[in-house]
Amino acid sequence: MSFHPVVRNPRSRHRAIAVSAMRSASITLGRPRLRVPLSRTASLGILPSRSFLSYSVNNRVKSDPAGRGGAEMGVYVVTGSASGMGAAVVEKLRSAGNTVIGVDLRSADVVADLSTATGRRAAIDGVLAASGGTLDGAVLAAGLGPAPGADRPALIVEVNYFGVVDLLEGWHDALASAERAKVVVFSSNSTTTMPAVPGRAIRAMLAGDSGKAVKATRLFGKNAPAMAYGASKIAVSRWVRRQAVTARWAGAGIRLNAIAPGAILTPLLERQLATPDEAKAIRSFPVPIGGFGVPSQLAEWVVFMLSDAADFLCGSVVFVDGGSDAWFRADDWPRAVPAVRIRGYLARMKEFAARA
Ligand code: NAD
Repeated sequence: MSFHPVVRNPRSRHRAIAVSAMRSASITLGRPRLRVPLSRTASLGILPSRSFLSYSVNNRVKSDPAGRGGAEMGVYVVTGSASGMGAAVVEKLRSAGNTVIGVDLRSADVVADLSTATGRRAAIDGVLAASGGTLDGAVLAAGLGPAPGADRPALIVEVNYFGVVDLLEGWHDALASAERAKVVVFSSNSTTTMPAVPGRAIRAMLAGDSGKAVKATRLFGKNAPAMAYGASKIAVSRWVRRQAVTARWAGAGIRLNAIAPGAILTPLLERQLATPDEAKAIRSFPVPIGGFGVPSQLAEWVVFMLSDAADFLCGSVVFVDGGSDAWFRADDWPRAVPAVRIRGYLARMKEFAARA
């Protein structure tokens, strides 16, 4: 009997180094493919958080992060890993045997403040070092809700939009290296149920101008944080849909999708419920199914969106919101391409044909 632990992508020098550093190995027989999970821990001097490094290397690409059916495991990064839905995703992925690199302000493998460019750079580098250069998937759950405070709109823009886009750009090559990587970005059903969100703020974020985006929310006074929140989630969803279909992302085998939760009972929502005015507004908001969602339900959706079942999912925003979006927007989408936009539609057809 012989076995060769094949590095998922032999071009990945980091992964090759990781493999050579393995201390122990175990072999599972009895499946058509020989499975060789190997792991080790080591300390990472560059990280300010607890020392950690855990590799899980297989002889083929992973196929089922939920761990059903003994499929191979992967390496995932989850931002916002210390609380709420991010923590629930980490728990599900780890309990199925995957290696997870958590990123958060505290209690994480990579401690980084995503509200600053320096913090985002540290998160990118820390995760690349910890993963050995290949990521099977990324879950971007770090986010801030609309709380009062003059600096809140800026923090929301920085964390909810740039804390997703900058990180994914920084991890692009590591995701491409896995060949069938999946990305799940946390959007929100605020994208379709919050009225009068300023388009100028959305456009500014997509153009990379955080200052202009924050300025566009200021005229809303005490509602500025709510508007910044809605705008950040629309902008990040649009970024996902625009990028998902490009040669750079889809062409590299990376599936980019978003999940849009409704009200989910996490510390974020609990903080909002602690303010009487906000609690009243939240509890009176239409949820046809009733009540609130719970983090573990959403985590199941995310793990599903990271699995092989999502291989054909690209540029989708999956609403899991108890029916609020359908309540307000049932007839707004799906919607046929309007006749006035046929020229643009045909131009996109041509553009796609020219790509091939
Ligand atoms: P949560 O507050 O429980 O968790 C969010 C995590 O993000 C926290 O661990 C926090 O420390 C981290 N975070 C915040 N600012 C950060 C920063 N500057 N740097 C690094 N990490 C930072 O929230 P949650 O409810 O689990 O939310 C997860 C995602 O889902 C968020 O993007 C949120 O906007 C979105 N969402 C939540 C709800 C809801 O009702 N809970 C609804 C729709 C969308």
